Amino acid sequence: MEISNKCTNENINVNININDNDNNINEKNNNFVNKQRIFLFDIDGTLSLPRKKVESEMIETLNKLKKIASVGLVGGSDFHKIREQVGDNILNEFEHIFSENGLVYYKNGKLEHIENIRNYLGQQKYNEFISFCMEYIGKLKLPCKTGNFIELRNGMINISPIGRSCLQQERDEFEIYDKKHKIREKMINVLKEKFELFNLQFSIGGQISMDVFIRGWDKTYCLRFLKDYEKIYFYGDKTEKGGNDYEIFVHPRVIAKKVGCPSDTMKYINSFL
Ligand SMILES: [Mg+2]
Repeated sequence: MEISNKCTNENINVNININDNDNNINEKNNNFVNKQRIFLFDIDGTLSLPRKKVESEMIETLNKLKKIASVGLVGGSDFHKIREQVGDNILNEFEHIFSENGLVYYKNGKLEHIENIRNYLGQQKYNEFISFCMEYIGKLKLPCKTGNFIELRNGMINISPIGRSCLQQERDEFEIYDKKHKIREKMINVLKEKFELFNLQFSIGGQISMDVFIRGWDKTYCLRFLKDYEKIYFYGDKTEKGGNDYEIFVHPRVIAKKVGCPSDTMKYINSFL
């Protein structure tokens, strides 16, 4: 049965094939807890509308799914932001919570693993990288510079040539200027070459900044903690190349599906219940 589902929030058309091979009748009728299976869900755009809270109907649907399989959340945001979207009871409700793609991992309500980019690189390499970026930005000729040029987050370094202290109008102007002069693209190319051995990955995000990660610190990071599962399902909305669900979407261990919005996700879940 093909269901064409138009999602108004992001104007995406998705065709859902409910009767696919991964979701056969036997599994559907398995009315016991099969902890060999885990269902992983992206949060933003998959369980909730972008930047919105997860609706109670979705939580109820996930609770039903928990009776027949393990359930985990995999979000790129930090734990604080994920809790805001999913609810205060998140640690009691979900067996696996991979915030920042699993760099901060809660298992059965307890912090199981934590990693950060400064630790991983070591202070010396980190210093070298930051000093270079500061020098590079210092030498850039831009119509406007503000403050907060480099922000160290847990799993990434966020670099903004104009600075994160800019006003909305300055932000919009930088975006246009950057499109024309390729400020961020050029900086990334220089960093890629200079720090080739640091195992870094770069992405241009939003209007004014770029993110620096460690290669492999995408959503596939969480898979190292799920070695005991026979089947790993994943549902996400940004599965195209360059999207933050892409790597896990194409991973050979994962049975993945693209969703266009939370109601798609709910249809998929219900097809297993
Ligand atoms: Mg998403």
